[in-house]
Amino acid sequence: MLFRVVFLGTAGAVPSSERNTSAIFVQYSKHRFLFDCGEGTQRQMITAKLGFRNLDHIFITHMHTDHFIGIFGLIETLSLNGRKKEINFYTPKPEVLKALFEIFGYENLEFDLKVHKASDGDEVRFENLRVLAFKTEHIVQSVGYALIEEDTRKFDREKAEKLGIPPGPLYAKLKKGEAVLWKDKLITPDMVLGEVKKGRKVVYTGDTRPCERIVEIAKNADLL
Ligand SMILES: [Zn+2]
Repeated sequence: MLFRVVFLGTAGAVPSSERNTSAIFVQYSKHRFLFDCGEGTQRQMITAKLGFRNLDHIFITHMHTDHFIGIFGLIETLSLNGRKKEINFYTPKPEVLKALFEIFGYENLEFDLKVHKASDGDEVRFENLRVLAFKTEHIVQSVGYALIEEDTRKFDREKAEKLGIPPGPLYAKLKKGEAVLWKDKLITPDMVLGEVKKGRKVVYTGDTRPCERIVEIAKNADLL
């Protein structure tokens, strides 16, 4: 499964000629996400040749402008591009974003802007990937996000054929991890699945002091 991370902004609150304010682009399978969206993030996306299609989820760590002000220019661009599909925003302070959307008159857009609260332990799932919010320590309410891919096991067709199981719905059930009955014999997924492929883990925080929760969540991360 494609799991791609593009660093669009790695500067602090002030951009430089080389580095933009905070934003990370992630693609997992067909899903595209932004984590934080500092000023000029849309230009960074254009420079990095990342399309805006399928960018349906934007995760904000906290409501300091260097982490979210790029949302508005991006929304204007998407509107001019004729977007119809909703966008989901996740933030520890949804009321702030909702109020700003109202001030800017975004209720008249042709696509919905859905704002969700991100609190410690909240998660959203995309196929084999879950995005988990966790509390961080900043001067305002803040969260980080852990992208955790499930471990997977490939279906071993040869093993299934050796057991005499015919291709079709029984294969589909076994792939999903369900046991099936074939000729009065119980076939468990273990009998037809290959080795475990360890899921990948990416952990992202915005501004934060060191804290125990990050240490706990970031354990065994592939990218931090
Ligand atoms: Zn901050």
